Amino acid sequence: ILYNQVQDLKGSIRVYCRVRPFFPGQRNHLSAVENIEGGTITVSIPSKNGKGRKSFNFNKVFGPSATQAEVFCDMQPLIRSVLDGYNVCIFAYGQTGSGKTYTMTGPKEIVEKSQGVNYRALRDLFLIADQRKDTFLYEVSVQMIEIYNEQVRDLLVTGGANRRLEIRSSSHKGLSVPDASLVRVSSTIDVIELMNRGQRNRAVGATALNDRSSRSHSCLTVHVQGRDLTSGAILRGCMHLVDLAGSERVDKSEATGDRLKEAQHINKSLSALGDVIASLAQKNSHVPYRNSKLTQLLQDSLGGQAKTLMFVHVSPEIDSIGETISTLKFAERVA
Ligand code: ADP
Ligand code: MG
Repeated sequence: ILYNQVQDLKGSIRVYCRVRPFFPGQRNHLSAVENIEGGTITVSIPSKNGKGRKSFNFNKVFGPSATQAEVFCDMQPLIRSVLDGYNVCIFAYGQTGSGKTYTMTGPKEIVEKSQGVNYRALRDLFLIADQRKDTFLYEVSVQMIEIYNEQVRDLLVTGGANRRLEIRSSSHKGLSVPDASLVRVSSTIDVIELMNRGQRNRAVGATALNDRSSRSHSCLTVHVQGRDLTSGAILRGCMHLVDLAGSERVDKSEATGDRLKEAQHINKSLSALGDVIASLAQKNSHVPYRNSKLTQLLQDSLGGQAKTLMFVHVSPEIDSIGETISTLKFAERVA
């Protein structure tokens, strides 16, 4: 228990990996993933002279059969610490199709069992807040924003996807985007309704040819304010749940115009995020927060006492091995 308390005070960075299962009907496909054991994942690397393999180490690796409940189970201490006044960031990283949205939100048709981290986190938050109601009075509010081409947009107002928002460098009451809608919620049902609204607004900004959801970062931020009923002291914590843009490299010879611009913005912000987390992990004195909107937005919740969970996703198909290796390398750098 003592060890855990020390860990709690320190702030921390953890890196988890999740391997998506094959799609139904894909049974006999060759898997790039050879072995998963504890925190180690071994992938096979096809080459001209036979087959090589490479292992990567993380805090934990979830195989294709891991359930949403199992995945969330490991995150529960983070939810508790938000109510204790800490800031938390949970990221889903990986190439398009690797399961980021599945982890954070769920599949297309969501039933209770398939609900992702976002729903479960809020449900737990309300549950713990209720258990503490004799000592603390909690207020929970959410913001939902999107970063597309280095522009920040509000997903909770209709038409918000077209209005650009500013990021405040020194946050007021923990709000780094003070102009984005901040909606008070008091139940999981409220949250589901809001998340659906956000998804609808996000879709409006996209055309059929341009599925923006894979090329923008979306961030659900939960702000918690707790008042200690005996002392009157106020504590604030917040949790950012971030579904990142697809990390796949775009073939520079093929991408032109808007597509190339998007790819450059994504590249820049994902590497800025990697640089920030890596320099925090190495305890560097200079942390380069200013290099992207994403890292500016999350500045107060990355480093210091804040807790970070980087959840990297990989596809099992051998065709994806190139992207899988680059995802695992990115993750190893921040671990
Ligand atoms: P991404 O958001 O990274 O582009 P998605 O979450 O949309 O990827 O996943 C791609 C597809 O794979 C979706 O149809 C999703 O429902 C499915 N999928 C992803 N991860 C899992 C999983 N762990 N179990 C079952 N289906 C999954
Ligand atoms: Mg997605």
